[in-house]
Amino acid sequence: MAVIVNKAECIGCGACEPSCPFGAITMEDGKAIITEACTQCGACIPVCPVSAISREDIEQTVVMDKSQYKDVWVYIEVSGGKPRNVSLELLGEGRKLADELGQKLSAVLIGRGVEHIANEVIAAGADQVYLSEAPELAHYSTDGYTAVFTDMINKYKPSVILLGATNDGRDLGPRVACRVGTGLTADCTGLGIEPESGLVAWTRPAFGGNIMATILCPDHRPQMGTVRPSVFKRPVPDETRTGEIIKVASVAKADEIRTKILNIIQVSMGSCNLEEAEIIVSGGRGMGKPENFALIEELAKVLGASVGASRAAVDAGWKPHMHQVGQTGKTVGPKIYIACGISGAIQHLAGMSSSDVVIAINKDPDAPIFGMADFGVVGDVVEILPLLTEEFRRIKAG
Ligand code: FAD
Ligand code: SF4
Ligand code: SF4
Repeated sequence: MAVIVNKAECIGCGACEPSCPFGAITMEDGKAIITEACTQCGACIPVCPVSAISREDIEQTVVMDKSQYKDVWVYIEVSGGKPRNVSLELLGEGRKLADELGQKLSAVLIGRGVEHIANEVIAAGADQVYLSEAPELAHYSTDGYTAVFTDMINKYKPSVILLGATNDGRDLGPRVACRVGTGLTADCTGLGIEPESGLVAWTRPAFGGNIMATILCPDHRPQMGTVRPSVFKRPVPDETRTGEIIKVASVAKADEIRTKILNIIQVSMGSCNLEEAEIIVSGGRGMGKPENFALIEELAKVLGASVGASRAAVDAGWKPHMHQVGQTGKTVGPKIYIACGISGAIQHLAGMSSSDVVIAINKDPDAPIFGMADFGVVGDVVEILPLLTEEFRRIKAG
């Protein structure tokens, strides 16, 4: 499908040019020209007074031979010389998909000086590791990593690719999918295999989170998706596992990487590194006022925890959105989640229900959060939090 201008019909009135939200229309020799920036949104079509703009069906001439594609791949994101938690979580889930399909599970490792990670990903479930290392790959770049990953896919033809729905995964996944001519389901919260077709069933929230949609990719390969961090548990490593490391020469060229890293400034994620946090103390509307979040932060400091918030607290401007836990915030899976003055709406639970232990403090004994809490305290959070903080401080002091 493409949006085109019929030059014979165009009267050069220019009405379409300002109607394009992407600046994709220019006028040349008195005719409208649609450039590569067009996203096919269609906004310009009804604007044209002489109906010179239309959608054109482009016949699909390339028929994919799907039988050539097999195996499940997991893209391993590396941070600080270690695989990110989400990559390990996906190895656990990828293992299940690969076993169900009777195929291999492979890890994709791109970078510089990352070979030492191969054993860790094999212990986490991978049968083999595609490893591409080069000086140009020392830091993530859209151009460099896209080139290498696309080349690997074209060479080895995987059937399924899982990436974390992180900043890098959300950047790399769609670009690679476009290069290899397939689709991508973004931000999944559930994975499975549809029994009749053997296709991956990608489940993700849709329509603002009001329904869960399950998406299939029947006609193209690989089937690709990004998956939210902390939805799945990390597998228990099995150090006795062995696997093959397949070295793939990098096709990244330094002069084709358009972004240049001039300097790296370490920004402390401090209390909002929620996705990797082992303990989270979260506050909701029941905190009453923004100043009371100091009580949450104090407890978090004593416990070495991150600080979360419900959407109500974020919408009230008490905490920035990066602290929001839930369906439209972050999905977390800490060992301990302490919910303070949070009612336990379904959209909040969607982001923290895989926590190992949930402790809830709420003045309403019927608050839904108690339905999923392992421990509950009924009372005023403003009174209880300082007592808890003091007690933990005392215990930690020995
Ligand atoms: P409330 O529901 O108002 O609950 C406050 C709680 O605090 C109550 O249970 C009350 O008993 C208790 N309380 C009051 N005072 C005290 C006190 N002094 N001491 C102890 N307890 C007290 N929400 C999210 O959190 N994350 C999301 O990502 C998210 N996404 C959404 C997406 C969509 C499409 C929609 C429609 C909604 C979404 N929501 C999300 C909003 C969600 O439905 C709830 O409105 C929200 O979670 C409520 O936040 P809360 O529990 O802080 O506030
Ligand atoms: Fe612009 Fe949308 Fe028209 Fe493309 S279809 S030229 S993006 S208005
Ligand atoms: Fe041509 Fe139609 Fe655009 Fe006018 S609105 S310039 S007639 S394509």
